[in-house]
Amino acid sequence: MINFLNLKQINKQYREELIEACTRVIDSGWYIGGSELAEFEKNFSAYCGTKYAIGVANGLDALILIIRAWKELGKLKEGDEIIVPANTYIASILAITANNLKPILVEPELNSFNIHTASIEAAITKKTKAILAVHLYGQLADMLAIKTISEKNNLLVIEDAAQAHGAQLNGIKAGNWGDAAAFSFYPGKNLGALGDAGAITTNDEALANALIALRNYGSHEKYVNIFTGVNSRLDEIQAAILNVKLKHLDSEITHRRAIAQLYLDNIKNPLIKLPLQNINTISFDKHVWHLFVILCEKRNELQEFLKEKGIQTLIHYPIPPHKQLAYKELNHLTFPITETIHDQVLSLPIGPTLTFSDAQKIIEAVNEFI
Ligand SMILES: *Cc1c(COP(=O)(O)O)cnc(C)c1O
Repeated sequence: MINFLNLKQINKQYREELIEACTRVIDSGWYIGGSELAEFEKNFSAYCGTKYAIGVANGLDALILIIRAWKELGKLKEGDEIIVPANTYIASILAITANNLKPILVEPELNSFNIHTASIEAAITKKTKAILAVHLYGQLADMLAIKTISEKNNLLVIEDAAQAHGAQLNGIKAGNWGDAAAFSFYPGKNLGALGDAGAITTNDEALANALIALRNYGSHEKYVNIFTGVNSRLDEIQAAILNVKLKHLDSEITHRRAIAQLYLDNIKNPLIKLPLQNINTISFDKHVWHLFVILCEKRNELQEFLKEKGIQTLIHYPIPPHKQLAYKELNHLTFPITETIHDQVLSLPIGPTLTFSDAQKIIEAVNEFI
């Protein structure tokens, strides 16, 4: 069986280093808000090229707290509209509605799976205050176009970079394009903890200070509360683990790119549309291949066919947010491109420990599908 992602194998590579890091935390007697977190925040902001990185409990909280902080700072208020791609993971939308703001869903582009920037302009109203760009599957959204639109219309830009650690364009990394960015370190993400974890990156000092309080009951100083904050902290043990894993992120991305290139060069099946087709890739660096997603009209048959050959695949995602029971108020909307994507996408195995010989087996199986 070829697993979709072999987390056991991935983390086993760093077993000694991880045990050493955990032992250090256990023996320190200090488990929340200590030197491991400070070290990780320093390392991760340096990695992204931002002034600040603020550790939080998970990626959803990172997104929620960015919007919450801007409400506290008077930059956003309830009822404001935030433009967001319709085909994103539900967390992006939840962050908006959890703050009582209004998500304005916009179609993606079929070739990149990322938000169609021309449709952003058409969706802007007097109430629009921000664009939430998602770097879906590990590829940067068209941030050059999004920056132009946001500057022209005086909009804030949030990046959902949960799938895009290390993706870059023109030397600028994911997390350093918008006014603030949310990262997830869920175990299966390209930079994964051994549990839940997340972070926010920004260059804005006022925002960073508000976030540091908000994640900790609204308090900078013990028992002094300036906001009605939450408890969303990144544990010392996860920070220590992330300090180990961050050192290996770039070489893991290099391996993902090599697997992706093998797929792109060798999958030749008229029933399958590969990612990046018809895209003028300015630079391959844009993509960190969190997922390798193909389109196939007979997606369910293809998934079954691969399963019979011992290849595990996943669907990201089977139901778009506007068709979820949770969002009855959005159920009447139709987004043909989004719905096509959800009907046709299939994610092939990709990861830092997938071997080239297994990738070759996957290529052969995909090419045999009729
Ligand atoms: C994983 C993910 C999140 C949420 O991260 P968690 O750490 O699971 O809360 C948000 N947005 C996107 C696009 C994701 O893939």
